[in-house]
Amino acid sequence: MKITDVQAYIVRQPEVSLIGDGTQDSVIIRIDTDAGIYGLAEVDSAPYLVKQAIDMPDSHSAQRGMRSVLLGMDPLATEVIWDELYACTYYYARGGAGMHAISGIDMALWDIKGKALGVPVFQLLGGAYQRRIPAYISILMPQTEDEVKRLVDYHMVKGYSGIKFGWGNLGEDMAHDLKLVRAARKALGPDKLLMIDIAMNWREYKPALDACHAYAQEGVYWVEEPFRVEQPELFAKLRDAVPLNITAGEELSSLQEFETYLQKGCVDILQPDLSRCGGLTIGKKIADLAKRHQVPIIPHNFKSGLLMSATLQYIASLPGARYLEYCGQETVLSRSLITEPVVVQDGYVEIPDRPGLGVELNMDTVARYRV
Ligand SMILES: [Mg+2]
Repeated sequence: MKITDVQAYIVRQPEVSLIGDGTQDSVIIRIDTDAGIYGLAEVDSAPYLVKQAIDMPDSHSAQRGMRSVLLGMDPLATEVIWDELYACTYYYARGGAGMHAISGIDMALWDIKGKALGVPVFQLLGGAYQRRIPAYISILMPQTEDEVKRLVDYHMVKGYSGIKFGWGNLGEDMAHDLKLVRAARKALGPDKLLMIDIAMNWREYKPALDACHAYAQEGVYWVEEPFRVEQPELFAKLRDAVPLNITAGEELSSLQEFETYLQKGCVDILQPDLSRCGGLTIGKKIADLAKRHQVPIIPHNFKSGLLMSATLQYIASLPGARYLEYCGQETVLSRSLITEPVVVQDGYVEIPDRPGLGVELNMDTVARYRV
């Protein structure tokens, strides 16, 4: 089998706000083959940069356009292609949007591989440790306690294991943040999980330490990305000092960064994003490493149903995966980019066993919102 085409296209709702919501737009990758099989992927990154990495003409041997590298290659050779893509793009793709583009391409290749062999991707990753997974709902932190309560009431009737509030203005006013956390716990009751995603906004260690102790009093299950991820030592120091879980992973790319986080004891739970970490090829290696370090993985997943479908296949293959992050942003793309949106029933999601990633694009949505 040979790769005959690689397309990247952007879908975007008419108005995009400057909030931490990646479901307002997206970049979709489609890889076609001479066998008529195609693979799909979605990337949680800057859409126009990812598209450019794929579309651009070759410059020199270490800064090639990704489509140009891929044309004519065997799509089943995922490991070979990953190494070749890296070698041909390392001037710009060792991290950031370039590595995110590699991640999406890798994801689409695994979709092709599953379809070609007639098996779901989780079979290719070694089989399913679980075929259903409890979901937690993940939303942006609002400004007021009343709005926190409204969102808890609105979402939690669906039976989620818990709720994560993140981004918004967290980190700007620690006293106000604590009021919001307390409002969330009060609205949730004592038994459901509560997670807080600081989005790397804490700038001083001591107030961060105090906040974690106060959040622990409210039964917060984890604090996510308290600091900028380039400071793994701060993560390890905080993790040692507090009684709640510290998590990170969505900003990390490449196996080495995950290895550093595991070796330095930075996190209690690792959260790789399959569309940023290097794809399923690297995701599998991260899973093996995390298993050796006895650190569970709960992948980052905050995009449309396309990334969620890949994330579900990965989750099936993880020993001891605990939860699916279910993106609670209700945009047209998060809710209608694929033909069979992932359904939460009694708080659980069934992991599909259709070939590949088991996902198809809703072409009406694509046609309407493609730019
Ligand atoms: Mg996060």
